[in-house]
Amino acid sequence: MYNNIGNILKTTALIILIVGIAGALIGGFIMITNGLGGAGAAVLIGGCIVTWLTSITLFGFGRIVENSDTIAMVLKQNKAGHIEEDDETVFSGQTEENAADPFRYTKTGQCELCGANDVGIAECRISDKMGIRYRNICERCMKKTGAKLV
Ligand SMILES: [Zn+2]
Repeated sequence: MYNNIGNILKTTALIILIVGIAGALIGGFIMITNGLGGAGAAVLIGGCIVTWLTSITLFGFGRIVENSDTIAMVLKQNKAGHIEEDDETVFSGQTEENAADPFRYTKTGQCELCGANDVGIAECRISDKMGIRYRNICERCMKKTGAKLV
């Protein structure tokens, strides 16, 4: 009975949705045809809204339970070492190489801003209160000015 609770909750949510909306429609129409127009309309519209909110809340909760079951299962498998080999590439789009060198200078030479010689430089777009300029600058100046690689 307590296995696969996520699925049970989702199914229950669907049953509540169908029964609740049918009940609100039938009850509302019966009240309206018996001369209780205002109250009947309230039961009809209110009943549908309440049913819908109850249903999506329960459905969402069922989905959370299901997902956490899946996560727990994956973690357990991971701990046991079954899928440890190829999960590294799943979570990280960044390689060690571009993490270590985000600057990616294109050549070595003199920085046109600070004048440092024999450093890695790249053509950058510097945008500040003096306008937009393109200069070959070093990584330090790039960080200082907030320049972007061209
Ligand atoms: Zn520089």
